[in-house]
Amino acid sequence: NASRLDRDKEVNVQVLLRCRPLNEDEQKMNVLKVISCNESRREVNVLQSFASKQIDKVFTFDKVFGPKAQQRSIYDQAVAPIVNEVLDGFNCTIFAYGQTGTGKTYTMEGGMRNKAGELPAEAGVIPRAVRQIFDTLEAQNADYSMKVTFLELYNEELTDLLSPEDSPRYVEDRQKKPISLLEDGKGCVVVRGLEEVPVYSANEIYSLLERGASRRRTADTLLNKRSSRSHSVFSITIYIKEAPVGDEDLIKCGKLNLVDLAGSENISRSGAREGRAKEAGEINKSLLTLGRVINALVEHSAHIPYRDSKLTRLLRDSLGGKTKTCIIATISPSAHCLEETLSTLDYAHRAK
Ligand code: ADP
Ligand code: MG
Repeated sequence: NASRLDRDKEVNVQVLLRCRPLNEDEQKMNVLKVISCNESRREVNVLQSFASKQIDKVFTFDKVFGPKAQQRSIYDQAVAPIVNEVLDGFNCTIFAYGQTGTGKTYTMEGGMRNKAGELPAEAGVIPRAVRQIFDTLEAQNADYSMKVTFLELYNEELTDLLSPEDSPRYVEDRQKKPISLLEDGKGCVVVRGLEEVPVYSANEIYSLLERGASRRRTADTLLNKRSSRSHSVFSITIYIKEAPVGDEDLIKCGKLNLVDLAGSENISRSGAREGRAKEAGEINKSLLTLGRVINALVEHSAHIPYRDSKLTRLLRDSLGGKTKTCIIATISPSAHCLEETLSTLDYAHRAK
């Protein structure tokens, strides 16, 4: 099959840039904007003059979404085609990357559902993907099953966000017994001790997401700013029964990983504070390695350093090869964030 062969040679990494609007406080304080987005030219322009120095840089991405971009248009233009790939039996990953406060969680989660159980306008990537998956399978009258996992990666340690509260496993989690990552010898990833929850409806998934998100928030108050330093990985695996060939049942299996990464400020500033360098190093390891893995994939390197971090080991079967990867880099337009914004633009640009 020619199109499959072509796929093997392609690098399927797409990098999107989204700039959030100034929030109300920033508007009241007349915060200076240093970013302008040109969506049709797919360009971001960084412009600032100091007394003696001027910054004027242009970055190009696969797609650029300015402060007025709606959740729906980002989904339709960038994510819907990827979800179709998953339904065709491929593994795909969508990352949100950026400084804390720039809209990673808003982009990935947004509003999950309103009182009527419908998608609100501010629904982000995850609830929309869930909706598209169920709508498509139902329209096709498909014979399918589905399971989800939701975990958090903090300090190179995995925590299950879906383990039942009363199970011994959850008690173990609270004693910080890490979940272990194994490989099955065929390049597939096995996560031992992780709850895989079978799901039958979009609403069930929304409830699980809410449960996991509230556990993250609880952990956040116990350990200051944990959520900005941890990665969350929500995965949906779909098994679809295909028309039988002879007397063999064929099952098509696709996986979608939706990753809300740790704040990127954990990369750029950590080196400065020596006392915390080790802890910071552990937090950064996955973020830095992810950047290196994606660079290596884009540059067709012979060696892809998957093994260098937990995050890349976890996602190994969904990065590279016949998979599709989408990075949504988020930035603030404010002059106060300039340094972090430039670092995000550099990281994201290198992934192209
Ligand atoms: P992060 O997860 O990167 O730390 P959040 O998603 O929590 O950032 O966003 C910080 C705040 O900014 C939230 O109140 C969020 O609702 C708001 N926000 C982020 N992006 C947008 C956007 N594109 N439009 C409107 N509000 C946004
Ligand atoms: Mg967040």
